[in-house]
Amino acid sequence: MRHQARKRFGQNFLQDQQLISEIISYINPQENDPIIEIGPGLGALTNPLLERVSQLTVVEIDRDLVARLRERQTPKLTIVEADALQVDWQALAGDRRLRLVGNLPYNIGTPLLLKLAQQASVLTDVHAMLQKEVVDRITAKSGTRSFGRLSVMIQACFEVRTLLEVPPEAFDPPPKVQSAVIRMVPHEKQPSATELSSLEAIARLAFANKRKTLRNNLKKQIGDEQFSQLGIDPGARAETLGLPQFFALAKLLNKGNTSPSK
Ligand code: SAM
Repeated sequence: MRHQARKRFGQNFLQDQQLISEIISYINPQENDPIIEIGPGLGALTNPLLERVSQLTVVEIDRDLVARLRERQTPKLTIVEADALQVDWQALAGDRRLRLVGNLPYNIGTPLLLKLAQQASVLTDVHAMLQKEVVDRITAKSGTRSFGRLSVMIQACFEVRTLLEVPPEAFDPPPKVQSAVIRMVPHEKQPSATELSSLEAIARLAFANKRKTLRNNLKKQIGDEQFSQLGIDPGARAETLGLPQFFALAKLLNKGNTSPSK
């Protein structure tokens, strides 16, 4: 029976075989790679992955799709019926480092990637299809309009690269927006959990109002003197700062140095 695509689960199934092959060659799966696919759906990526690897784990939330996958009775395939946002990647990884792949449901893309940033050290890489607009924000360079909290948080943990842009016609049903495939490779040295949470706090505040200056967005946390000690112009906007400056501000916040100097 034909599966009726469910909007609430962001179901846009890949149907362009040429594109699927391109994605698979970017992933370049090796037989013993511990690959986890998020949202296998009807198997557009699952099938070619199963041809290449000895074991594949998939995480799917839709119980009808899970039932279909179970019907296959493929010993190579481990099916986890779960919400990918609730998965403990560290526990799933054990002593391995995981390779995550997925044509991600658009409604969970951003929160999922932010969660992955907290567990980046258990990952080898991530290949994900997302809305192009989200990929543009993730990969944005400091000084550009798209540079924001998401760029800071993801680039703090991963090397990021856009691999492909994908038009709506590649999917059934077609989404309303353009998509893109991104590769994210964790940096060798990861920020600690404390550093990451201070970074998140500072990025949230600094970008709270993108048109305001740093001085205005951070007036309760950081004073002019502290900005000048870090060589940061308080009259600038957050999007002009580079990652090292965000880390420096986060460190200041973390020290509990929350009262601006006069
Ligand atoms: N991989 C398939 C493809 O490329 O055709 C399906 C991609 S479709 C965009 C997203 C898939 O993720 C669907 O199978 C959907 O049911 C599943 N999904 C949606 N929300 C999820 C969640 N929170 N956790 C796990 N899977 C989810």
